[in-house]
Amino acid sequence: MTEQADVIVVGAGLAGLVATYEMAKAGKKVLVVDQESSANLGGQAFWSLGGLFLVDSPEQRRLGIKDSYELAIQDWMGTAAFDREREDQWPRLWAQAYVEFAAGEKRQYLHDLGLRLMPNVGWAERGRGSALGQGNSVPRFHITWGTGPGVVEVFLTRVVAASKRGLVTFQHRHQVDEIVVTDGAATGVRGTVLEPSTEARGVKSSRTAVGEFEFSAQAVVVTSGGIGGNPELVKKNWPARLGKAPENMLAGVPAHVDGRMLEITENAGGNIVNRDRMWHYTEGIQNWDPIWPNHGIRIIPGPSSMWFDGNGTRLPSPNFPGFDTMGTLEHIVNSGHHHTWFVLDQKIIEKEFALSGSEQNPDITGRDFKLLAERLKKGAPGPVEAFKQHGADFVVRDNLRDLVDGMNALTPDAPLKYEDLEREIVARDREVKNSYTKDFQVMAIRNARNLLADKITRVVSPHELLDPKNGPLIAVRLHLLTRKTLGGLETNLDSQVIRPDGTPFEGLYAAGEVAGFGGGGVHGYSALEGTFLGGCIFSGRAAGRALAR
Ligand SMILES: Cc1cc2nc3c(=O)[nH]c(=O)nc-3n(C[C@H](O)[C@H](O)[C@H](O)COP(=O)(O)OP(=O)(O)OC[C@H]3O[C@@H](n4cnc5c(N)ncnc54)[C@H](O)[C@@H]3O)c2cc1C
Repeated sequence: MTEQADVIVVGAGLAGLVATYEMAKAGKKVLVVDQESSANLGGQAFWSLGGLFLVDSPEQRRLGIKDSYELAIQDWMGTAAFDREREDQWPRLWAQAYVEFAAGEKRQYLHDLGLRLMPNVGWAERGRGSALGQGNSVPRFHITWGTGPGVVEVFLTRVVAASKRGLVTFQHRHQVDEIVVTDGAATGVRGTVLEPSTEARGVKSSRTAVGEFEFSAQAVVVTSGGIGGNPELVKKNWPARLGKAPENMLAGVPAHVDGRMLEITENAGGNIVNRDRMWHYTEGIQNWDPIWPNHGIRIIPGPSSMWFDGNGTRLPSPNFPGFDTMGTLEHIVNSGHHHTWFVLDQKIIEKEFALSGSEQNPDITGRDFKLLAERLKKGAPGPVEAFKQHGADFVVRDNLRDLVDGMNALTPDAPLKYEDLEREIVARDREVKNSYTKDFQVMAIRNARNLLADKITRVVSPHELLDPKNGPLIAVRLHLLTRKTLGGLETNLDSQVIRPDGTPFEGLYAAGEVAGFGGGGVHGYSALEGTFLGGCIFSGRAAGRALAR
């Protein structure tokens, strides 16, 4: 069969675009195949907040943050907790290489392409409470000016330019069902042509077949994303250590994140490792204006909201908002109910609630200074206020008794006792009266406020929740929300897929989420945040550069 291109890329998300950009730059002919329409170019990254993990950046230094490769690798390894001999062999090497990239050329590589960052640096995953353990010792979450679409743009514009020069061809609505292997090497893909779709970006599209296709090339790069949009696969791969798989989770990703290519690549002879490692959020809320089925949004919380399980028991230390996603997930899944509650007040929501997603941050996404300046005004940011008004999970009341009644109206099967909540909140309110305390969450709030950027933009001073001048009181019912796949196709540092016997698969490469962002699990059991887009860039670049050699 004649070759349609030098290389076929399966998936036009961020990892696929980066690999394509690198290959086209070197003069290679690339065929990009995607099951969705051109409206979805950029995949999940378009919806993202564009948060990027960087180490010892000029933005950090300007804020007085002292970071280093040594501190970052200590945090990464403490968080990943690699403990598998064979399965973590490549992930360990990827982790070292990736942290070096984040502490070295990553920022310049992106800056040279035109990507710009917000001056403030966020502190995600504040940690489980020990220097060698999980979490970021310092803020490292750099938001792209333009959010996710801004990250996609710098690669997509160059790939589109290359397509005008005849180097890149797109085949949309082409769903790959099989990788063609000839004499042990990947030489093409076969699949189903889907009917045209006029659905808007992110909306679930039809799977009606109108034909078949086969394309051949010298190599295939799989960049098809993870499994977060496929609830059955999430349940099937759910790790026993996290308890029983929840029956219902909100979907934090579009339906095209279906995970099919994992099995397809495995059937072709690629090895999957760390299948049971995944990353889901514990602060999901139902989107009142959904785009994809069961669409949930993640609250990116500051540290001050009180957090209760479905029985009304305060979550134990250090499961505070924004501290330890996987530890909190494990606690919640084993607590009996899969929903939890934030209890806060107007003062906290105004400063501490951010929503993940490009469409939830129109000021930064649209690079709109005027809209951005409105964040300084009194009141919560517009999208947060919209959730407060229209969101099915929000209860807003002037006093605690009414608040608990409102909460119980939302979860009649798991009624809370007013006395339980009152006891916890009154006790916590007593702890804020001194500048020191025995309450670890109040300590953590004071610690965060030692960082000037947090103090000014992100973390309110400890105050009494039950003081009406800080009200009204707000309760938010939180759901578990699927997002990222941490395990995947095993790859070497060139992003070349590894076979079960440990040898490289000729002509077959994988990058981005399908490869566990590199190696089949660069994050180990848990992530430091902002590491996923960067993982797509790093592993996509490795594949592209290897194939350009
Ligand atoms: C709301 C949201 C916020 C996020 N925020 C951040 C953040 O701030 N920082 C961060 O680091 N990460 C963030 N992420 C995660 C990050 O965006 C994703 O992990 C990353 O973009 C995945 O990129 P990918 O290229 O690997 O896969 P995808 O973006 O999933 O792209 C895969 C593509 O492959 C196609 N495909 C799949 N199977 C087939 C097939 N069989 N045949 C043909 N085509 C196929 C799909 O249609 C899709 O276009 C966020 C994600 C979401 C959804």
